[in-house]
Amino acid sequence: MALLVQKYGGTSVGSVERIEAVADRVLKHKQQGDDIVVVVSAMSGETNRLIELAKSIQATPDAREMDVLLSTGEQVTIALLSMALMKRGLSAKSYTGSQVRITTDDAHGKARIEKIDTDAMESDLASGKVLVVAGFQGADELGNITTLGRGGSDTTGVALAAALKADECQIYTDVDGVYTTDPRVVDSARRLEKITFEEMLEMASLGSKVLQIRSVEFAGKYQVPLRVLSSFVEGEGTLITTDGDQNMEQPAVSGIAFNRDEAKLTLKGVPDIPGVASKILAPVSDANIEVDMIVQNVSVDGTTDFTFTVHRNDYDKATAVLKQVADDLSAKEVITDDKIAKVSIVGVGMRSHAGVASSMFTALANESINIQLISTSEIKVSVIIDEKYMELAVRALHSAFKLNDPDAGISEV
Ligand code: ADP
Ligand code: ASP
Ligand code: MG
Repeated sequence: MALLVQKYGGTSVGSVERIEAVADRVLKHKQQGDDIVVVVSAMSGETNRLIELAKSIQATPDAREMDVLLSTGEQVTIALLSMALMKRGLSAKSYTGSQVRITTDDAHGKARIEKIDTDAMESDLASGKVLVVAGFQGADELGNITTLGRGGSDTTGVALAAALKADECQIYTDVDGVYTTDPRVVDSARRLEKITFEEMLEMASLGSKVLQIRSVEFAGKYQVPLRVLSSFVEGEGTLITTDGDQNMEQPAVSGIAFNRDEAKLTLKGVPDIPGVASKILAPVSDANIEVDMIVQNVSVDGTTDFTFTVHRNDYDKATAVLKQVADDLSAKEVITDDKIAKVSIVGVGMRSHAGVASSMFTALANESINIQLISTSEIKVSVIIDEKYMELAVRALHSAFKLNDPDAGISEV
């Protein structure tokens, strides 16, 4: 007998039929003697529909009211799933985020979980109930409803699993595990049996939205056994593990992530003097804009070019700030581009394999894809390229690193 937290995403509860299928799966686990806490998302498309409704009234709706609105999506699914479970003779009880006492900070739209009171849940579990908890939401100290950011039901699932010391947190979705890259973009993408937390964290933060970044952080921090599985087909899914595979044949690259979330800004012809980077970036951070990649060119004639990337949502704001900075520093010009994509290769095996970055650059060069910016860490290499070559680049890298072949081991390009 195990205590399982099972999280079902939007597509998995996207219709009454899908909700009934989830109830069947929960019943099966219950009959095997497991205790089950279910976390559900809103029905697929519902959160987007609610956002559109709000925006039809006001371009930038009040953040508190937005959370009141968005939390309703998950409230629908907890009630419907509880009914479907009761229909099967199970004792079930729905909980909203505040009823389960998920206390968050007050950062509406991106709240962080501070504590979870497990007393009521533990006594309900002891009495044999299936708990059905609304994902993506909590409440601050004052009782205001908060939400955890898009994809936040994953984090609710992992946080509950940590608080209840569950045996496993199972993330049920519309693919049967974590793949070497998004299987909707590369047909030959391969399901991974295991992936380390470190790799999953990089994959998630570089664009693989199969798990919300915070859920992976949380699972790593609290050592929650985490598995991604399909709610449509049976299977083992992908286990997110702490044990780095010691196998020497481990491939250098485990996966490829990509996103179109960034924009690039360049300030040309700024004086190359001490303090110039801070003069450019301080106003950007004062405007609450996060910077990702930064490159400063070699100085020519005492001036240099300075390039950085920001989230695409901050593109307009960052452009305005940079134009002001350009005036203040008497820079030559500001060049901006929001038609870029970031493509990244990720793998703990990179630590022990040389030449991975150059293999990546060769594979891109073979497709005549120009690299605009590069950034590396111990277990990833990211490049910025023209958005229109993103899918081509992902496919080229997937095949160059032989990711479709589980036995490829160390790959040469
Ligand atoms: P849910 O609604 O269940 O939370 P999401 O849409 O958030 O589901 O996440 C599942 C999707 O993640 C898949 O449909 C797939 O297109 C995408 N995805 C991106 N990268 C990967 C990857 N490396 N492995 C598996 N799925 C991925
Ligand atoms: N319903 C929310 C969203 O669409 C949370 C989630 O699905 O995890 O982002
Ligand atoms: Mg999701």
